[in-house]
Amino acid sequence: MSELELTAVRVPPSALGASLPQVPDDHRFRLEFRDWLAGNTPPSPSGMTEAEDFAFRAKWQKALYEGGWAGPAWPKRYGGRGSGALEQFMYYEELALAQAPRVTNESGILLLGPTLMVHGTEDHKRRFLPGILSGDDIWCQGFSEPGSGSDLASLRTRARDNGDGWVISGQKIWTTWAAYSKWCFVLCRTEDTPRHKGLSMLIVDMDQPGIEVHPIRQMSGRADFCEVFFEEAQTPHDLIVGERGQGWQVAMTMLQFERADQGYTDHAPLLVTLHLLRQALSDAVAGSSLLPPEAARLRFADLWRRCQQLRRYNLRNAVNAEQGREVGVAASTVNVFWSHLVKDLAEFKASVQADDGVLDNTPTSENLLYSRASSIYSGTDEIQLNIIAERILGLPR
Ligand SMILES: Cc1cc2nc3c(=O)[nH]c(=O)nc-3n(C[C@H](O)[C@H](O)[C@H](O)COP(=O)(O)OP(=O)(O)OC[C@H]3O[C@@H](n4cnc5c(N)ncnc54)[C@H](O)[C@@H]3O)c2cc1C
Repeated sequence: MSELELTAVRVPPSALGASLPQVPDDHRFRLEFRDWLAGNTPPSPSGMTEAEDFAFRAKWQKALYEGGWAGPAWPKRYGGRGSGALEQFMYYEELALAQAPRVTNESGILLLGPTLMVHGTEDHKRRFLPGILSGDDIWCQGFSEPGSGSDLASLRTRARDNGDGWVISGQKIWTTWAAYSKWCFVLCRTEDTPRHKGLSMLIVDMDQPGIEVHPIRQMSGRADFCEVFFEEAQTPHDLIVGERGQGWQVAMTMLQFERADQGYTDHAPLLVTLHLLRQALSDAVAGSSLLPPEAARLRFADLWRRCQQLRRYNLRNAVNAEQGREVGVAASTVNVFWSHLVKDLAEFKASVQADDGVLDNTPTSENLLYSRASSIYSGTDEIQLNIIAERILGLPR
């Protein structure tokens, strides 16, 4: 970390709201991590290209790993800290308060690592988990295909067993960070049985001639997700996760981690954004025709209340995890609540910060555009609502 300037500005714990008894402000774990962050958090430079930003965040992730802070709730034998889910909850709150940069390997840390811990062999875990945490191995999630997003079970990428291993052909799309990834979790069809019964989950090395990656430019200006083409790409037999033909179960485990926000990561950055906006609000509202002061106050209060609600949902998930209970389909309710909140907060921030109603190519405008994705990835809102209707409320299909 030596060449990074250590001046990231900390936000006070009161930005998160009341101290909660299960995760109090003066908890030993919090104080220890807070102390470490105070001496090690770099400010995020502005104006970086996507590649520079990626390299910067990879360096930050390495620093967390070397400091013993990359995976609070992961077992020590795989490079983690061996703490519990409540510590992980506090960990993400402290990262947000320190205004620390985002790590690089979010798909690996939040989705693929936890899934490997459930379905992987001991060999998979020892081989892959430490590299996920250190960021030495970047991972991507190869699920969606053109025509198979919400209806994932219709996917057509095939893998055949040629005796020496698996040979994969097909196309994936929207694969986040594929251009930077060393490994991909590929959900593919290995059996002739229909739909979800014929799928398997394979770990595939991205660095081989049978794989081509094409980044897709988004409206936010970013090109962090990609099309991935497999043409006779190969992977050995032992890199199957779960049983052959049982890939759907592995995929559902991963989606539950994604929907429940396995890291309990999401409320704290939103609350920190609100805290910073509160400071900017009176000046901006005075000079902006977009938002009369009374309307701004009401919207602020509504967003604050919803962030607090999300904080309680995430805490409940952490308590359940601590007691060994799975989140299950209830993850869909949190996901819908969160996706609306993310979009509304991004719009509020934009209306406060717009200069005479214009937002031109700023981090705020990028955030506004990117926020639209929150009701698409990890399953669209409509799909989550279908799950809530059918599997929680028991309504007919
Ligand atoms: C930022 C971002 C990152 C992503 N990263 C990844 C990644 O790393 N790996 C990966 O595999 N995928 C990734 N995705 C893809 C994501 O999982 C899919 O976009 C999502 O599952 C929706 O699929 P689709 O885009 O094909 O839309 P479709 O499934 O075609 O849906 C189109 C519309 O129809 C609606 N709809 C579809 N079926 C139903 C139904 N049964 N009932 C009611 N409404 C319905 C949907 O809600 C949506 O509004 C990412 C997406 C985004 C936006």
